[in-house]
Amino acid sequence: MTDIIEIPAALLPLDGRFGSGPSKVTDAQVKALVASQPGVLGTSHRQAPVKGLVRDIRSMLGELYALPEGYEVILGNGGSTMFWDAAAFSLVRERAQHCTFGEFGAKFAKATGGAPHLSASSVRTAPAGGAILPEAEDGIDVYAWPHNETSTGVCVPVVRPTGIGDALTVVDATSAAGGVEVDIAQADVYYFAPQKSFAADGGLWFAIVSPAAIARIEEIAASGRWIPESLSLKVALDNSRADQTLNTPAVATLVLMRAQLEWMLAGGGLGFAAARSRASSDLVYAWAERTGWTETFVTDPVLRSPVVATIDLHPSVDSAELRRHLRAQGVVDIDPYRKLGRNQIRIGVYPAVDPEDVGRLVKSLDYLVERLLT
Ligand SMILES: *Cc1c(COP(=O)(O)O)cnc(C)c1O
Repeated sequence: MTDIIEIPAALLPLDGRFGSGPSKVTDAQVKALVASQPGVLGTSHRQAPVKGLVRDIRSMLGELYALPEGYEVILGNGGSTMFWDAAAFSLVRERAQHCTFGEFGAKFAKATGGAPHLSASSVRTAPAGGAILPEAEDGIDVYAWPHNETSTGVCVPVVRPTGIGDALTVVDATSAAGGVEVDIAQADVYYFAPQKSFAADGGLWFAIVSPAAIARIEEIAASGRWIPESLSLKVALDNSRADQTLNTPAVATLVLMRAQLEWMLAGGGLGFAAARSRASSDLVYAWAERTGWTETFVTDPVLRSPVVATIDLHPSVDSAELRRHLRAQGVVDIDPYRKLGRNQIRIGVYPAVDPEDVGRLVKSLDYLVERLLT
């Protein structure tokens, strides 16, 4: 009836969600969502229950990152993509430098590059699978790079370049935050969205901002530059301090996010969450090393992402065919980033993913390929 090669139940992951975003949502989060009905769901975001939810998330993120003096957590609607536009309006004074080594870094560079009120951005580019880091340059007031480039599975250090004066470091942590450890003092702005390591839904952005970033936001807001209200980080800052957003947030996403933060903090914090992802990705990379038909896409081991593992397949193994058999059995979303165009699988191993399921995933892959190649 079907040409699907059936994987024995003993090998199949108990939960087959390995997407890089949206990513696996846990049962505990869904239980928290159910428990928020009634009381929180379907109630005003201007009243205590939802404001309390926002306050909890802001303070839990502060705890997770052990925020240095004066750092604050702000949030707004629109996800990380919207944050890029907000940054072009509210963080870049005159000219930004971007490091791009994949799709997401390049998209932010495009956002500031096209802004008519800014000078053309300085863009430092490395080929997909590699990386490049920021370097001091005259006339630059924002240095931007991704902590984890989700499209290629490359993770780089977050270190403030020397000699940049009062310029800001603005780090895209969309997929790193919650799953990779960081010295937050190296970033002036560390921004992310809830649908990756925090296992929630999309649609919001969060940013951890330093006193210097807050000063920059205030300075640009007072400068007379025209800024759309929905993209003003000054408006977001003022609303966040009141545990609110300019316009209505996705309340259910906030509930899911708080539940995942509770789980991370109860387990021991960022070190605990990062170790779980590291255990999963180490397992994938070790498997790829010892398997004849796989090759780790990121050749430099220190750049290999602990949260998103990209594995090239031998031409005799068709990624799409492999994924077709897996999807039919509930193992989903290990597709390579669409524009990379490689015969690859990309495995999202955010903290919510059980390392045991990753072990089962590689066994399932071995099982399928053994049969597909004969
Ligand atoms: C997913 C992702 C984005 C885009 O996030 P949205 O919330 O969908 O806008 C940006 N940067 C990185 C590194 C990502 O992984």
